[in-house]
Amino acid sequence: MNTIVKSLLDPNTCMTNIKNAAEIIKAGGLVAFPTETVYGLGANALDVEACAKVYAVKGRPSDNPLIMHITDEMTLGGIAKNVPDTAIKLMDTFWPGSLTVILQKDEAVKSDFDTVAVRVPKTMWARLLIHHAGVPIAAPSANLSGRPSPTTAAHVLEDLGGNVDMILDGGACDVGLESTVIDCSDGTPTILRPGAVTREMIEDLIGSVNMVYEVLGDEAPKSPGMKYKHYSPNARVTVVIGDTEKVAAKLEELASSSDKKTRVITAKDMGGNHEAIAANLFDILRQCDELGLGEVFIEGVEEEGLGVAIMNRLKKAASYNIIKV
Ligand code: AMP
Ligand code: MG
Repeated sequence: MNTIVKSLLDPNTCMTNIKNAAEIIKAGGLVAFPTETVYGLGANALDVEACAKVYAVKGRPSDNPLIMHITDEMTLGGIAKNVPDTAIKLMDTFWPGSLTVILQKDEAVKSDFDTVAVRVPKTMWARLLIHHAGVPIAAPSANLSGRPSPTTAAHVLEDLGGNVDMILDGGACDVGLESTVIDCSDGTPTILRPGAVTREMIEDLIGSVNMVYEVLGDEAPKSPGMKYKHYSPNARVTVVIGDTEKVAAKLEELASSSDKKTRVITAKDMGGNHEAIAANLFDILRQCDELGLGEVFIEGVEEEGLGVAIMNRLKKAASYNIIKV
């Protein structure tokens, strides 16, 4: 298949490209498109065959459900039912944005699950694409399963070039990490994946919530995505956390005693503050592969606010190989 890459950055052609992409979605094809979190691999969420192609192209395990992307809260009808007040407050406040809400599924949606994950992306291009397609768009991250998520069109092309109909190029994603996932389908809301909408922001709005996003031992995961290894470069990753000076010394010590091609990556190298680190993280992990590194030693960040989401991705990239100093 020839993958067509179209830019969204020229206002003269942007709408034509979005409308052509919407036609591809309507016809059962696959379009990768930018959202503020990461690039999504889009298909008509109501077309079982189109969704099957998403799984095949990504190599995604079939028990890991897709997030449905919609244009606004008003289009939840026919998708979700028994939506609780807490979920409505969350959607009113954080949509459009980096929050995926899990709700009880309406019978009209055909899937093997009782629940459905929904999000309204902030990027206007993404909402225009959904609007013109006239259907909810299922869009997991547009990477091969297990690889770092894509934050540029080049990342998508690297993983999925030749296997998707079109890639819409809107430049680098603002946030750079996947959405926060919160389960509001039953009882106390539970955060299943940390993201840019932080626990503090959520609790300020709806009070105390649970947070279960790491699977330990043989526990059954509440979200299928939790159990899969993610975000990993080919290199072995070690994350070092603690006092900055001690971390710097430890990183150098580890790198000098390694017999592989190595690189030390400090928080400063990744952009310094949490927002910049989030935006750069997946690109940096991908660069490790381009450089053919055998081992990388990365400075962790404080697990506070957005730092929780950054550390979640880093820990997974490192297969929980963490050193505290
Ligand atoms: P991705 O599509 O790569 O951003 O990943 C979506 C995440 O949401 C995965 O971790 C999924 O397991 C999770 N997810 C999607 N739908 C559901 C659902 N109905 N119940 C629980 N987790 C879900
Ligand atoms: Mg993903």
